[in-house]
Amino acid sequence: MEQIEQIEKQALAELDAAGTADAIDAIRVCYLGRKGVLTSVMRNISQLPKEDRPVAGKKANQVKGILEAALNKALQRLETGAQTIEDRLDVSLPGRANRTGSLHPVSQISQQMCDIFSRLGFDVAEGPEIESDYYNFEALNFPKNHPARDMQDTFFVSDDIVLRTHTSPMQIRIMEKTQPPVRVVVPGKVFRCDSDLTHTPMFHQVEGLFVDQGVSFGDLKGILTAFVHQMFDDKTSLRFRPSFFPFTEPSAEVDILCVMCRGKGCRVCSHTGWIEVLGSGMVHPALYENVNYDPEKYTGFAFGMGVERIAMLKFGIDDIRKFFENDIRFLNQF
Ligand SMILES: [Zn+2]
Repeated sequence: MEQIEQIEKQALAELDAAGTADAIDAIRVCYLGRKGVLTSVMRNISQLPKEDRPVAGKKANQVKGILEAALNKALQRLETGAQTIEDRLDVSLPGRANRTGSLHPVSQISQQMCDIFSRLGFDVAEGPEIESDYYNFEALNFPKNHPARDMQDTFFVSDDIVLRTHTSPMQIRIMEKTQPPVRVVVPGKVFRCDSDLTHTPMFHQVEGLFVDQGVSFGDLKGILTAFVHQMFDDKTSLRFRPSFFPFTEPSAEVDILCVMCRGKGCRVCSHTGWIEVLGSGMVHPALYENVNYDPEKYTGFAFGMGVERIAMLKFGIDDIRKFFENDIRFLNQF
């Protein structure tokens, strides 16, 4: 039995190494030929004790079958020049997964922001990206030649038509069509002629507007505090700084406690401990006159914030341009 097993092992090893038809044939003659090694073993089985013969015969026939199959397979491989399916199939290899896409990080954050405001009772609306001078500037209390227009680095389509520089034109469009109470947020693309580590010519804003009787600056602070606490966490404190926008009075810029260093001071917050995240203020009475609201009856607040800015803070990204390079290695992480 040992001898037969030894023959099987050796013949298969020689076949593995055989690279030509001649070599394969030589192996066949050597083991299975008339004077072959296995043939003579089989011939000698008759000399074994009677009770051992059936087992030895069976084993020898098995090995003969295995060797014949291996010889044929080796010849076949040589002829086709290719491996058989059994050779190529490795069932231990990991499978190929179907990859699913995902929402762009800017879309994710924009949706998250709108979801938070929805829960606070705001509707969601969208508006045109190409705007008239009237809606982008004039109706928002930026008269012609007003110096504040220069702050916006506007892309002009024609003398009177611009790519909107903010989502604020929707304040006017919504108030023209709706009577108070108005509670709405407006996500969308805006355009400014600007490009560096923290600015891209196209970016996203979420605008908010709340107008009703008796709306106060306290409501503005309450809503924005609730938003920041849900967007980041309730340990993120806010700071309101006096500022200027033509369409709000009074106006405030809002800083949050630096989410990276928690106020200790780091590179992200320029070592101040605070990060500016949005602009806000009480709606300027001049706007109410443009949309036929009674400024004696209604008050309200508005705010606007950059989606990329919030996304950079949420995800710890230091270069805004990464959002728009469409590098799949970057996008895959969200
Ligand atoms: Zn910091």
